[in-house]
Amino acid sequence: MNQTLKQDIETLVRLQEIESEILRLQSVIQKVEKEKIALASRLNAFKTDLDTRRQELEEIQQKCTDAEQEIKTVDDRIIKSNETLRMVKTNKEYQVLLREVDDNKRRKDALESQLLDFYDQREAIETGVKESEQQFLQLEQHIRAEQAEIDKKTVDDRELLAQSLEQQKKIGQDLDPSLMTRFRKVSRMNQGQAVAQVRNESCMGCFMNVPPQLCIEVQRGNQLISCPQCSRILYHVNDDPMSGE
Ligand SMILES: [Zn+2]
Repeated sequence: MNQTLKQDIETLVRLQEIESEILRLQSVIQKVEKEKIALASRLNAFKTDLDTRRQELEEIQQKCTDAEQEIKTVDDRIIKSNETLRMVKTNKEYQVLLREVDDNKRRKDALESQLLDFYDQREAIETGVKESEQQFLQLEQHIRAEQAEIDKKTVDDRELLAQSLEQQKKIGQDLDPSLMTRFRKVSRMNQGQAVAQVRNESCMGCFMNVPPQLCIEVQRGNQLISCPQCSRILYHVNDDPMSGE
């Protein structure tokens, strides 16, 4: 077996291991980042809902204040009319004022009954807001904890990724540039997998049969053989347990 080629193949296999690890880590990191975003948007949606409820509470509170204010104004008018009543001279004036007092009393009754409705509404909304605030706090706590957990996981993975990228660079330097180009090209064609083992006369990359003559060539290791189906660079692992498989 050609020793330089044997070394090249070993380097390619090692490079492939690192590349696969890099792809795996990148995909894991991407996935957890997506989880983090999903958690944040869940909390956001809840916050939006809570803000709407708070807005509703403010509105009903304003309605209560307005009604209370108006009742006071009408009440003042009734008191004033009653005072004037005692001083009127003519029956006509008296009748007009009396009608005014009656109108205002009816207005006051209507306003008071409306105000009671507003109070009921306010109580219901207030209860909803309080419950919602409680739930929000719990959810926030839960989501912050989950995000922290995700961050922790990502920190380890990011460190591993940095190490793998460093190893990839080092290994790449040992390889002949033309071999590296070939590796990159085949890798792009096969979702990041450029090297595949031959086992039982099959390519472990695409699982297609490799012609027997080609298998022998791969075992001999005198030249780099590509899988006729997927173009992955093929290598053979000796079944001898000492060979490292
Ligand atoms: Zn193949």
